[in-house]
Amino acid sequence: MLYQSTRSKDRVTSAQAIVRGIAPDGGLYAPEALPSFSWDEILKLADMPYPQRAAHVLAALLPDFPEEELRQSAEKAYARFDGDSPAPLKKLGNTRVLELFHGPTMAFKDMALQMLPHLMRLAARKTGEERDIAILTATSGDTGKAALEGFADVEGTSVTVFYPLGGVSAIQEKQMVTSRGKNTHVIAVRGNFDDAQSGVKKLFTDPEFIEAMAASGKVLSSANSINLGRLAPQAAYYFSAAAQMMREGAVGRGKELDVCVPTGNFGNILAAWYAKRMGAPIGKLICASNANDVLTEFFLTGVYDRRREFKKTISPSMDILISSNLERLLFEIGGLEKNTAWMDALKKDGVFRLDRSEHEQLRAHFLCGSADDRETAEEIARMWREERYVMDPHTAVASAVLRKLRAEGKTANPVLLVSTASPYKFAPDVCAALGIDVPDDPFAASEALCAATGLPIPAPMRELREAPVRHTRVCGKDEMGQAVLAEMGQAGDKGTGNRQ
Ligand SMILES: *Cc1c(COP(=O)(O)O)cnc(C)c1O
Repeated sequence: MLYQSTRSKDRVTSAQAIVRGIAPDGGLYAPEALPSFSWDEILKLADMPYPQRAAHVLAALLPDFPEEELRQSAEKAYARFDGDSPAPLKKLGNTRVLELFHGPTMAFKDMALQMLPHLMRLAARKTGEERDIAILTATSGDTGKAALEGFADVEGTSVTVFYPLGGVSAIQEKQMVTSRGKNTHVIAVRGNFDDAQSGVKKLFTDPEFIEAMAASGKVLSSANSINLGRLAPQAAYYFSAAAQMMREGAVGRGKELDVCVPTGNFGNILAAWYAKRMGAPIGKLICASNANDVLTEFFLTGVYDRRREFKKTISPSMDILISSNLERLLFEIGGLEKNTAWMDALKKDGVFRLDRSEHEQLRAHFLCGSADDRETAEEIARMWREERYVMDPHTAVASAVLRKLRAEGKTANPVLLVSTASPYKFAPDVCAALGIDVPDDPFAASEALCAATGLPIPAPMRELREAPVRHTRVCGKDEMGQAVLAEMGQAGDKGTGNRQ
């Protein structure tokens, strides 16, 4: 099984796709065909510990990697998670909440980014790559810290994270700028997330920049959710959850579950789509947006139009107008030529349109909806009042959308509601939603939230408070390349900690 670029006939192995991150033509690597699992094979996963479940699913998606090698990597990756399972299910009525935030950075990105460095190192060996791998990534908040945690001090790698200045929460920013590791770099960009992401994409195809990096023995790769090494570990938790629900009888032959995913860059829900196509008993995929509802409009109308105001919300990791991973789905329904035309139109005019048959293909599988900040806050309050369950704002967006769709009779199946962050990561907004009086300081807000709800404060949150700032660089959106080179030149400073 090979992976093909969504923008050319370039075909590579799974290991090559992981090392490269993005195709040289700017496309994303998409599977030529997907493996498939039988009902019994999925059910058997329920008897295995999580790392073994993950390894089994990954081995099918990444044929260059033996299952045993993947199991060892998964055991290391998921050892850093709190609790019995890295992806536990909580039952709330006809909803199962899949909690994906028990890793070191308290958001679901850890599920993939603790695994990616292992995959990257193994993949580099398999492809004969001997240069150091320089990870460049743009973040809307959570990816950045998760990448920094995953790659910190991993031999033969470095990681540079760009975040939009003023565009992430106070806690997210503190998490990033306090990152340890001699090979970690954090740079604030004057612009929004889309500026940072476009800037990183440009660096990947900028010959001068690539050459300057090569001159110091470095080859670029990406830890963004476009990397196959991120996508593949995400498919695993959908199988894990499905297996458990099958075992409990909540899902049966001919009785599917729907999944509801708070969506930004379309990586998480795309993994659910792959899981469905690989045989997981998934019915509808519900794509939930916040006030940046470009995807909701797209699924409703077949028109993707990014020409709109970018809104800052209380679910910042979903504040995105260009959802990169959607391209893999578009490639699947439209093929190479159409996808290339759509991507060109998006770049040139900021808009593209599916024709009726393509739009109908999507509507057969996807439901959608959006919730603004007011609805999100109301949902947080309501879930606490009615279920005694504390939700973060991203999860609450999905929960509010699910509530609306259920009221309209659009989903009657049991629903897997994907919970993507700990409420403590967004404590001030969660407190505000619950009507708890909070000071501005996010740590005081955590304590107030804990006092009001009894939910224990996760260890990474407690440690963050005292951590010293180690990264202070800021750059313009057209200076990102120079900023990376300047950081690399100063890498020696990092050992001592504080550059202020
Ligand atoms: C990244 C993120 C999302 C969006 O996930 P995508 O895969 O980009 O769609 C949602 N919630 C949280 C907390 C996130 O960190």
